[in-house]
Amino acid sequence: MKEQVRLLSVNDLRVHFSQQKSGGLGKPVLIHVVNGVSFDVFQGETLGLVGESGCGKTTLGRALIRLGHSVVTGTISFEGREITSIGNREFRSLRKEIQMIFQDPFGSLNPRLTVGQMLGEVLLVHGIARGDAARKRIEELLDVVGLNKEYANRYPHEFSGGQRQRLGIARALAVNPKFIICDEPVSALDVSIQSQILNLLKDLQRDLGLTYLFIAHDLSVVEYISDRIAVMYLGKIVEIADYAELYANPMHPYTKALLSAIPNPEFGGKKDRILLNGDLPGPMNIPSGCGFHPRCPSAMAECRMRAPQLQEHNSANGHQVSCLLYE
Ligand code: SF4
Repeated sequence: MKEQVRLLSVNDLRVHFSQQKSGGLGKPVLIHVVNGVSFDVFQGETLGLVGESGCGKTTLGRALIRLGHSVVTGTISFEGREITSIGNREFRSLRKEIQMIFQDPFGSLNPRLTVGQMLGEVLLVHGIARGDAARKRIEELLDVVGLNKEYANRYPHEFSGGQRQRLGIARALAVNPKFIICDEPVSALDVSIQSQILNLLKDLQRDLGLTYLFIAHDLSVVEYISDRIAVMYLGKIVEIADYAELYANPMHPYTKALLSAIPNPEFGGKKDRILLNGDLPGPMNIPSGCGFHPRCPSAMAECRMRAPQLQEHNSANGHQVSCLLYE
């Protein structure tokens, strides 16, 4: 952890979607995708957020910047200011400070605009630069993400996957953000390209003082870039710790299973794969008690009835876990 200045604080965040039952009869039901999540992100750090596909991590990241048609309760504070209740107009000006990099950079780039036009539009809309100043800034942005300034005249389809992700990063940087939500930014890339993008993100963090929430389904990726890691399961954070502590001393049975799936035994010292029963249940079928109990190798009778709370286990290093084994 580099500094202990809170940049983002999330308290009891819940994200619900309204969905019609199959057959279209009856009242719509509320689907709880994020179910009471609390965490802080400190200035200059990377908090890794990891969990299986469908656990709610992307929905959580999008809810932080009001993307998606969901109902959000709880509070989000940015730089000490509560932003959940501010109006959309005020929130738009705040969006310069909080940017997002998406898993599919191609889907988030307008295919009809050249790179120069796309970045120029961002600079213009946010009142940052126009004309010659914008051209100069676009060249700087391309340089900073490791792309040739001549590429300003090219269209998105003329770039490789890794280059497109660099463009996505350039677009996020165009507005000089403080905080970037990185939503699986390397998941769709080849392994060799993944490390280049991760190194670029690390360099940018060091040079520009950025703070990241880094969302991924792969613990080996978040380990490389994170200062702390939060593990998410069925809409809740089940464990959160400094990355070295989490890998050396995982506590939650789900974290242990995720770590055991990493081929390299160096991670967490695990050689034997822990296989979980079944698949992640859907948000319409959340089990009673501890949501992990149908798949947990350590489940007890009590786990079917009582939901554990995320509690601090070690005050010296801030390791928190949500499991009845430790309550
Ligand atoms: Fe497993 Fe019970 Fe802990 Fe849940 S509370 S993770 S079911 S041991």
